[in-house]
Amino acid sequence: AMNMPEYVRRALAMLEDAGFEAFAVGGCVRDSILGRTPHDWDICTAALPEETGAVFADYRTIDTGMKHGTCTVLMDGEPLEITTYRIDGNYSDGRHPDRVWFSRDLREDLARRDFTVNAMAVDRQGRLVDPFGGRADLAAQLIRAVGKPEDRFREDALRIIRALRFAAVLGFRIEEETADAVRSMAALCRGTSRERIFIELTKLLMGDSAAAVLTEYRGSMCSCLGMEIAEPERLGLLRRAPRDLPLRCGIFFGPGAGRVRNGLKELKADNELIRAAEKAAELSEDPAIRGVLENDAARMRLLRDHGPEDLCRGIRLRGVLSESQSEIDDYIDSNRVSADDWENGCRAVERILERKDACWNRSQLAVNGGDILRTGVPRGPEVGRILDGLLEDVISGRVPNDRERLLRRIR
Ligand code: ATP
Ligand code: MG
Repeated sequence: AMNMPEYVRRALAMLEDAGFEAFAVGGCVRDSILGRTPHDWDICTAALPEETGAVFADYRTIDTGMKHGTCTVLMDGEPLEITTYRIDGNYSDGRHPDRVWFSRDLREDLARRDFTVNAMAVDRQGRLVDPFGGRADLAAQLIRAVGKPEDRFREDALRIIRALRFAAVLGFRIEEETADAVRSMAALCRGTSRERIFIELTKLLMGDSAAAVLTEYRGSMCSCLGMEIAEPERLGLLRRAPRDLPLRCGIFFGPGAGRVRNGLKELKADNELIRAAEKAAELSEDPAIRGVLENDAARMRLLRDHGPEDLCRGIRLRGVLSESQSEIDDYIDSNRVSADDWENGCRAVERILERKDACWNRSQLAVNGGDILRTGVPRGPEVGRILDGLLEDVISGRVPNDRERLLRRIR
């Protein structure tokens, strides 16, 4: 049942054989009912952390969060989180429960969970425990808070952005009362940690329904983050965006590389993501990118200047933005280039990358710095200048990338 992996079934059996109830719970139950492959399986159990430890005494365990009742067991090298049934205490800071109590009752553990579709458990035989109507909400494609949405969001405001995240990833609507609470309480999100907000936001942005959710809840999203985000028309472009996080961040936080950078910095995104997203935004607004529509020499110069990954992302972002009339007028020129034209430009770049003999950077030249020194050029910046000159000669087709011909040219 449920396509439960063998190691999960075995862990449930071990706990049960030791006399403790044990269930797979949360996201994995939701995803397997939906026919999606869960990325991890979580287990909840009546066993206390020490009792769980004793059951898995022969296995390697990692005490991930013993005081919150979580013990990670390595089963065939797969880390499996096993958490004792838990009741969360007051959230006086709207962030962390002041304390947690362990429980022997599964229903109490399910009641602390955020949404009905996340509050189901399934045992080894595939028997479903679903006290809040999660299964029906899955069928109706609804995100609904467990209990009163206002209370649950006041306890932990991260749940507000999580509601939007699950709607975007699953393509579900948010049930009306829950949606009202999302809209009226969104600003509370700002009191939660920016790192945790950002994790939810990245999952939301990668969701297939990000465009629909963000256009509908744009105002709530701005309140959640405490910043302006892209206009609705631009957010709608996410519909056609490839599943690439920096590119999608470029749409979401833009227009303008500066806004992309500041938005991501504010949310404490990692530096590589900030760099890549800012670069994509910058390139997408750079008139020079039109070179990819021209010829291979122009494409190779762009490859030389930006590298394959950043260049292709910049072109793709440009292509997505070209679907919007207002974006194109603002940044490039009125000369309309279609998304298809940009996609063809991108393919042409990729064909260059596939060529074994392609030469668009210094290291692909048939000569290197050592060769230049041996012709008598003194060590120093001149060597680099000569290599760059040769590279330009090769790219523009004046000289083939042939060692003899290049050496002769240096002399
Ligand atoms: P994903 O597929 O992205 O991992 P998930 O449903 O597993 O989705 P997690 O953030 O990994 O989501 O959380 C695991 C489970 O823990 C959720 O399904 C939910 O039952 C519960 N949970 C997580 N965060 C909260 C929260 N802030 N409030 C209440 N319950 C939560
Ligand atoms: Mg999970």
